[in-house]
Amino acid sequence: MLELGMTIDGQSVLGSKTFDVFNPATGELVGRAPNATVDDLNRAVAAAKAAFPAWAALPDAERQALCAGLVKAIEANADEIAHTLTLEQGKPLNGMGSRFELGGAMAWAGHTASLELPVKVLQDNNEGRVELHRKAIGVVGSITPWNWPVMIAIWHIVPALRAGNTVVIKPSPFTPLSTLQVVAAMAATLPAGVLNVVTSDDTLDNIGAAMSSHPDIGKIVFTGSCATGARVMKSAADTMKRLTLELGGNDAGIVLPDCDPEEIAEKLFWGAFINNGQTCAAMKRLYVHDDIHDAVCDALVAYARSVKMGNGLDEASVLGPVANKMQFDKVSELVADAVQSGNVLLGGAPDEGLFFPITLISDLPDDAPLIHEEQFGPALPIIRFTDVEEAIKAANASENGLGGSIWSKDIEKAKALALRLECGTAWINSHGGLNPVAPFGGAKMSGIGREFGEEGLFENTEIQVLHI
Ligand code: NAD
Repeated sequence: MLELGMTIDGQSVLGSKTFDVFNPATGELVGRAPNATVDDLNRAVAAAKAAFPAWAALPDAERQALCAGLVKAIEANADEIAHTLTLEQGKPLNGMGSRFELGGAMAWAGHTASLELPVKVLQDNNEGRVELHRKAIGVVGSITPWNWPVMIAIWHIVPALRAGNTVVIKPSPFTPLSTLQVVAAMAATLPAGVLNVVTSDDTLDNIGAAMSSHPDIGKIVFTGSCATGARVMKSAADTMKRLTLELGGNDAGIVLPDCDPEEIAEKLFWGAFINNGQTCAAMKRLYVHDDIHDAVCDALVAYARSVKMGNGLDEASVLGPVANKMQFDKVSELVADAVQSGNVLLGGAPDEGLFFPITLISDLPDDAPLIHEEQFGPALPIIRFTDVEEAIKAANASENGLGGSIWSKDIEKAKALALRLECGTAWINSHGGLNPVAPFGGAKMSGIGREFGEEGLFENTEIQVLHI
């Protein structure tokens, strides 16, 4: 059983109380994490604040080299962290599971470390020179969810450090252990206090809330639900924190009648069911033209039947259980409602423990909650349309705007339709793939700001203009 410390000011800190972390595949205890109080948080923020001036003043090439070194720190511990991630989150080691997540974490860390923050000359003539500089903000507070805990930690931490900030991260209470491990490995290669982690199950103190209003934290980067994101925004107001909010999605995929159902079934499936659908930018509603609706349903059912779900430690598994009871109950409730009014093509009832089978349901009424709410689990509503205008209208009739996709052999037509989707990312003939060079984030209630690439790095900076 794992008993891990928090990393605060370069030291491992056990804290006076702990909370238990369970394996969703078996219900067994995986380990214990420190249950931080606001005092622990204050110590971590004070360490990050003290480390900030020297870290921000390092020559850029030196800071860049230290950030590039984080990839090696992750790599050296990748097998152990992937194993912990499978135990606490449920996702398999294999497939697009824990090893894939660790690979993504390294790819993002490497690319982000390579980014530059050049001074931009806005004017240079007889009237003078105007330069735009991008300076670090100070202490960045990172709050992460349980679905891709290691990858999202890296998405938050590395751009913040690369830009010269110091960091305090707080992972989800469902998946604290892999974050404790990855942070300990990375922090050991950095000056003390530059990277800190506190864990909590929010029973002693709500650490996320305390971070959002902390006077010595200059920016919060938050990934999680829309409701909590709105709370973060409210409590950040008094200290005028910089914010990046990556929130929920209810992405629509729209399949036009010129598609070959057999050809697209596998990509459609993984667009919706990657990580058991517990992915912000997974396809959560599938609109299919009437001409090929039934054939697409048949092809999806056939593909889904070939996918092995089971304990994540089993190399044959490519999907695991739902990650926690809270999410399992939410998915169960939405599916129980949908089976009353829809046509269940596959699945439809919970399995043992926290396992929920792949569920495909068609012919639901327009107002079905499974269509309108973020299910964040292994259930997909398939909706028939005859006029693509109806499908675009339905796709956009959501308060969310994270991603969307158009599926067609006619790329120009698909591009024109994709540009009409109200979302931060639109894919053509795929769904959900991310790339460290491509800014990612949501429109509407799906968030504020962007991560990745230059735009993501800039969000970790304050502009200062020099008039010379
Ligand atoms: P959540 O909002 O319940 O929790 C997220 C984090 O916020 C956790 O660390 C939690 O402890 C913390 N928290 C709880 N109360 C808080 C408060 N008052 N102030 C500050 N922080 C607080 O979300 P979750 O269930 O862990 O994650 C699932 C959600 O995250 C889904 O809606 C999903 O779409 C979204 N998500 C979005 C993205 C994206 O990039 N847009 C990526 C992954 C997940």
